[in-house]
Amino acid sequence: MADIQEIISLIQNPTEEDTALIRKAYDFALEAHKDQKRKSGEPYFTHLFATAKNLAELGMGATTISAGLLHDTIEDVPISAETIEKEFGKEIRFLVEGVTKLGKIRYSGTSKHHNESLRKLFVAMSQDIRVLIVKLCDRLHNMQTLQYVSKEKQLRIATETLEIYAPIAYRLGIRKLHRELEDMAFKYVYPEKYAEVEELLKKKEGIEIETLEKFLRSLKKELAKNGVTEFQTDYRIKGMYSLYKKLQRMEIDRVHDIAALRIIVSTVAECYRVLGVIHSAWRPLPGRIKDYISVPKPNGYRSLHTTVFTGDGGIVEVQIKTPEMYQEAEYGIASHITYKQSQREGKKQKMTNPNLLWVKRIIPIQENWNESTGQKNLSANLADVPRWVKELVEYQKEAGEEFISEIKTDFFQERIFVFTPKGDVIDLPIGSSIIDFAYAIHSDIGNRISGAKVNGKFVAITSTLQNGDRVEIETKKSAKPNRKWIEFCKTTMAKRHIRNALEK
Ligand code: MN
Repeated sequence: MADIQEIISLIQNPTEEDTALIRKAYDFALEAHKDQKRKSGEPYFTHLFATAKNLAELGMGATTISAGLLHDTIEDVPISAETIEKEFGKEIRFLVEGVTKLGKIRYSGTSKHHNESLRKLFVAMSQDIRVLIVKLCDRLHNMQTLQYVSKEKQLRIATETLEIYAPIAYRLGIRKLHRELEDMAFKYVYPEKYAEVEELLKKKEGIEIETLEKFLRSLKKELAKNGVTEFQTDYRIKGMYSLYKKLQRMEIDRVHDIAALRIIVSTVAECYRVLGVIHSAWRPLPGRIKDYISVPKPNGYRSLHTTVFTGDGGIVEVQIKTPEMYQEAEYGIASHITYKQSQREGKKQKMTNPNLLWVKRIIPIQENWNESTGQKNLSANLADVPRWVKELVEYQKEAGEEFISEIKTDFFQERIFVFTPKGDVIDLPIGSSIIDFAYAIHSDIGNRISGAKVNGKFVAITSTLQNGDRVEIETKKSAKPNRKWIEFCKTTMAKRHIRNALEK
């Protein structure tokens, strides 16, 4: 158990420094926590080891893995932040302290405390996303060992996981964490519903996989006929909580993605080619063809999706993607951190599509770190944090009691991507109007808006935007906000700016 090689073997081409750093953190944590036990009766170190291993599995580098090993030293045992800095440097101190601060907040379910904990979370996230990734990996192991704590604590931690941590993992595109956190929390928060879905899935899963494998055999022949021979396949089973949510909207017989087939080909052009082969042999279900390659999901997800009739009564969802898209879909923001790190360290770069919109919104993780002052260049760093994180930090300064309900509607709901005439991407909650768009660019533009074109056509500024729209705003010096606009706004930011302007 807890063999350090298990962690090191997960790192791609570790340098000697990487290995030495992790070994030092490993020994340090082992010694610091030697008298402590987990509620399960296991040595406390097993928790630190599991957290570090989760981080390594996400592809994080030696610095973050070491911070994972050390993440409970300041809070749980009398080791000072200064000692951590002396032994491991300013950067690891910053990460460990960041996680410690997050650990002190207690989710009590009352909105005031909830607000406070979210605020801290988003501020930490905007400073260095790695703090949050360590926290998510810490939480994953705590969820895996939740059976050992009191009933009351189980419910508190699981609810917090379901309402805060899992949605954040989703927004960061780390599907691997999102699904695991969500399904484990689901079991504690809604035990009866969980049992129902589990039962249902048990019945359905086998049939679905059978249909899928039969379809795959015909598909392979069809692809070979069309000269497509280089591809990999696998399938994924829908998460339990995700299925539960879907079942609230539709009957089980209308859910066609309990099992989904994935086809992985080497290039984007091949993706479209495979889609063409499939559609010429099988009839697609109308409305289920999704091109998330040309218009990715707001969390960065890219893939082609289609759902087809198999011809013998079955219906199968197929997802077509490249290995890079596959990687990004599982690891999200974490895969870009690794990319940045290996770029900095001059290692072989992972292939990443330069056109990927999302890359523009990713934090250059360590570049802004100033080792001599121990300070981060926050303004430069913030410029590259995902826009919605920046907005959250701005909001929370002014928002009051409504903060929670606001962020639930603004940030954890589905988002759309819309484009400026120059091709910059603005991401907004679904249902946003042109007014929201204008204020998202700048309050002056919002306050001076006089007209707008969407995809080249003049439309009313109160119109609702769709994913992929290209929006041009026209402004006039004499234009002024109107109280009526508020009804057509979805974002809190726009509403607030309008109210402020009206008061003046
Ligand atoms: Mn911990």
